[in-house]
Amino acid sequence: MPTQITVRPDPRQFPSSSRVNYQRRFVRRSRRADLLVISLWASGAAAAALFLASGGAGQFGSLAETVTSMGIVAGLIGTDFILVMLVLAARIPFIDRTIGHDRAVAVHRALSKPALYLLLGHGALLLIGYGMSSGINPIAQIGPMLALPDMPLAFIAMGLMITVVVTSLVAVRRRFSYEGWHLVHLLSYLSVAFALPHQLSVGGVLAVGTAQRVYWIALYVVAFGCLITFRFVEPIVSSLRHRITVAGTTTIAPGVTSIHLSGHNLRGLGAAGGQFFIWRFWTGTTWWHSHPISLSAVPTSSTARITVRDLGSGSARISAVPVGTRVSIEGPYGLFTDAARTSPKVAIIAAGIGVTPIRALLDHARFAPGEATILLRASTQEETYHWDEIRELAAAKGARCYVMVGRRSRVGPGWISEQDALRGVTLAGTFPDLADSDLYLCGPTAWLDLVEADARATGIPQHQIHAERFDW
Ligand SMILES: Cc1cc2nc3c(=O)[nH]c(=O)nc-3n(C[C@H](O)[C@H](O)[C@H](O)COP(=O)(O)OP(=O)(O)OC[C@H]3O[C@@H](n4cnc5c(N)ncnc54)[C@H](O)[C@@H]3O)c2cc1C
Repeated sequence: MPTQITVRPDPRQFPSSSRVNYQRRFVRRSRRADLLVISLWASGAAAAALFLASGGAGQFGSLAETVTSMGIVAGLIGTDFILVMLVLAARIPFIDRTIGHDRAVAVHRALSKPALYLLLGHGALLLIGYGMSSGINPIAQIGPMLALPDMPLAFIAMGLMITVVVTSLVAVRRRFSYEGWHLVHLLSYLSVAFALPHQLSVGGVLAVGTAQRVYWIALYVVAFGCLITFRFVEPIVSSLRHRITVAGTTTIAPGVTSIHLSGHNLRGLGAAGGQFFIWRFWTGTTWWHSHPISLSAVPTSSTARITVRDLGSGSARISAVPVGTRVSIEGPYGLFTDAARTSPKVAIIAAGIGVTPIRALLDHARFAPGEATILLRASTQEETYHWDEIRELAAAKGARCYVMVGRRSRVGPGWISEQDALRGVTLAGTFPDLADSDLYLCGPTAWLDLVEADARATGIPQHQIHAERFDW
């Protein structure tokens, strides 16, 4: 066993978890997630089916026609995927509550390559198909194609889309700062806008009186409507309504600062312990970059707190913002909360700055004394951020709390401190009820991957593991 902190259960009554039907809540959420997946595939299928139903089925007479029609179908499904990707990036509350922001971003990213391949296939097949009809080779067909109305814009749209997808490949993305990459990523909106005119004039998918017209108008309105509403209007309204400013900062360890915030009706934000906001601090050096940071304490009606570790130029600057700085917010986001629970018992493992959402989660998590176990890890004593608060909460709520300090062991699963690994500490030994618990994990990504792999090896089902990664 790692070092255990003495438990002093508080005589106050804490809400018991036993009255909450976690399984029923989980099943409901799974059904909503299934619905989202079905909608995603159905929208791609609808794009193809509507083309065929609106006269496209009759355009497969010759080989040239068949190749051209396949090119059109590839373009329609590719465009459909791009619009679905915009919906996934729009931070729609329903999607966030169902699969969480991180999974929405992961699906958005997973769709990017198929969408690009479909659009490249669209261009190539049309050049081949049109070339076959005119008796010229596909390369020579580029000239006549560019002479068609709106086609130069469509070629630019394709170039922009290739740039966006290539700069998002992990190896290429690492070479950019987050802000630089994000700026390039915004070109995807321009790409969609540049591609639209050729769909209307050359593609004819919006021909009056067809079901295709209704479908595509609806899809564009939903995608851009959600983006404008949830990425722009809602955050501006929320920031103006809650009037958040910096009330003070406290250095809690070298390079780690708690930022105390004050504002109006902050409970009205509806933030749950474990969630994060995207914060923008309005000073001369910080207004142009925003950062996802978890709450390190659940907001009261007039106060909130975040804790930031200086891990780059942006986080260093926001750690030094002066008192009175105006703050704008997007959020709350994330499913790293009590709402994700599937069972009455809780197992929590956090390391380094990963304690922040755990600290806030403990404010809200419902469990009876003895139903929760917490393990905190740090490489050095200096990195034991907010451990005192977590210990107090654990003691008051009747949770077991273990700590491990020291560098990581190279033997065994690799995430346990050397000293504890030598003493035979294991995941299963520390959390004997793991199979019947929800496991919440937060910490450095490489460490977290090792804990998650170790947990999966014990047989805990994937849906009981909730991991908050501080990188997307
Ligand atoms: C859900 C979530 C919760 C987080 N909670 C905390 C917390 O409570 N305390 C804390 O200290 N850190 C937290 N982080 C990490 C924090 O956001 C980054 O350390 C910080 O943004 C780094 O910015 P930088 O300019 O200092 O470094 P950079 O070198 O510019 O960025 C380093 C990495 O941070 C990430 N990043 C930077 N800006 C953004 C952004 N706007 N959106 C998404 N990712 C970005 C990128 O992966 C980037 O590669 C959290 C991150 C996420 C995703």
